[in-house]
Amino acid sequence: MSANVFEFENNGQKMTVPTDLYIGGQWRAATGGRRIDVFDPSTEGLIASVADATAEDGIAAVDAAAAAAPGWAATPPRQRAEILRRAFELMNSRLDSFAHLISLENGKALSDAKGEATYAAEFFRWFAEEAVRAVGELSMAPSGANRILVQYQPVGVSVLVTPWNFPAAMATRKIGPALAAGCTCILKPATETPLTAYAMAALLQEAGVPAGVVNVVTSSKAGAIVGAMLHDPRVRKLSFTGSTEVGRILLKQAADQVISCSMELGGNAPFLVFDDADMDAAIEGAMVAKMRNGGEACTAANRFYVQRPVAEEFATRLTARMRALTLGPGCSPATQLGPLINGTSRDKVIELVADAVERGAQIMTGGAVPKMKGYFYPATVVANVSLDSKLLHEEIFGPVAAIVPFDNEAQAISFANRTEYGLAAYVYTKDLARGLRVSEKIEAGMIALNRGLVSDPAAPFGGVKQSGIGREGGHHGLLEFMEAKYIATSW
Ligand code: NAP
Repeated sequence: MSANVFEFENNGQKMTVPTDLYIGGQWRAATGGRRIDVFDPSTEGLIASVADATAEDGIAAVDAAAAAAPGWAATPPRQRAEILRRAFELMNSRLDSFAHLISLENGKALSDAKGEATYAAEFFRWFAEEAVRAVGELSMAPSGANRILVQYQPVGVSVLVTPWNFPAAMATRKIGPALAAGCTCILKPATETPLTAYAMAALLQEAGVPAGVVNVVTSSKAGAIVGAMLHDPRVRKLSFTGSTEVGRILLKQAADQVISCSMELGGNAPFLVFDDADMDAAIEGAMVAKMRNGGEACTAANRFYVQRPVAEEFATRLTARMRALTLGPGCSPATQLGPLINGTSRDKVIELVADAVERGAQIMTGGAVPKMKGYFYPATVVANVSLDSKLLHEEIFGPVAAIVPFDNEAQAISFANRTEYGLAAYVYTKDLARGLRVSEKIEAGMIALNRGLVSDPAAPFGGVKQSGIGREGGHHGLLEFMEAKYIATSW
């Protein structure tokens, strides 16, 4: 076990989280012994500290992953599947503890954290099922001269870099398919939420994942450690979830060794409400699409485009629902909206709202920072936002709904596509033909039609334009960690 641990008790269930680096099945201190402090965004107080890996530690993790790679690739798919299934069952039996930990270091409300823990565990189940379905192909060459045999093989040592907003789910969405495909990996979680990643590493160890197959390194020098790993020729895959800005840097670095990249980047989701929409459903969906995780989701509805005849009703009803939310510390059961992750994120939200107001928008509710410790920002609705406002062009990543009226279908589509992002979009209409027509024209990787939620481990999650490259989840998620091997064969 790790020399350093963080322990807590929740509903009588004790959880011990190792806080050292997890490399080659061992828990060890960082070279030089440095540590990173982890804070609770609800109180700004210190929770624990974790090891602060150097680039040298990152390469030690690559050594471990490379050493374990041939054995894991040769492990029968059924055996890999059963280990993942055990991970699912273990996690499922500890959802409350994981939820508490996520809430503590991320700040999100317990209900959101429980939702995330459940969603995260489902990736282990889904990829346990997918591990035995990497089916190849056999066909006759058009010339008739030979057969074309295609087999899927693990891509190799994979570097997984994850953000703080879904500390459990973003890790399992990558570890699940990597392990199912037969790849070994090194997870570099976000500095703000390292404890959940280490709790996951301990769980995977308990589930029977062999030493070196999963390694976890936390570091305050993300650029140095990830850069060193991406320049090691043994690394063949980068799976990154985070901002488009950092994604661009990593794509450039990955180019040096021509590493396969899956990139899940930022979003700026439009939420379209047509005048025939079921308004109760649209409001319900808007609350989920906007407020899941307090707005700190890549799929969060940023821009609400509402057809003019129903725009006022929508704004009034959404305002009432947003105003009723209870703001408070993530871990308190009464809380519906927790704090933002840190002061920088909150400052950005403050600036975006101020910019919209300067350009003529009206604040319907919220908009003022409460006088309390923690990075709180209230649920906010801003109506009549002008089209040049930053609120419509930048990822808000906070509990702010910006509403803009539109007049017709063509205008709604043009407003929706007015962004360099293309992750998720939401469409509400009772006219199914219109719903599908609009869905086809919106430039996004995922559309929620008359729904406020798209995420599903069984579905291909990902974006177009500058929201990313590749898909996670579904059958596609497994193939991201595999290469097609073609054998031209005559018999
Ligand atoms: P971020 O700043 O891009 O960080 C993401 C990860 O990259 C963290 O582990 C971070 O480490 C690391 N990192 C930062 N700079 C790096 C560098 N120069 N080289 C290598 N690694 C580096 O994003 P975030 O603020 O954590 O997360 C929010 C963003 O993630 C939003 O844009 C959101 O839309 C996006 N996101 C996308 C999806 C999706 O599926 N498309 C899902 C969730 C979130 P440190 O923590 O140490 O900085």
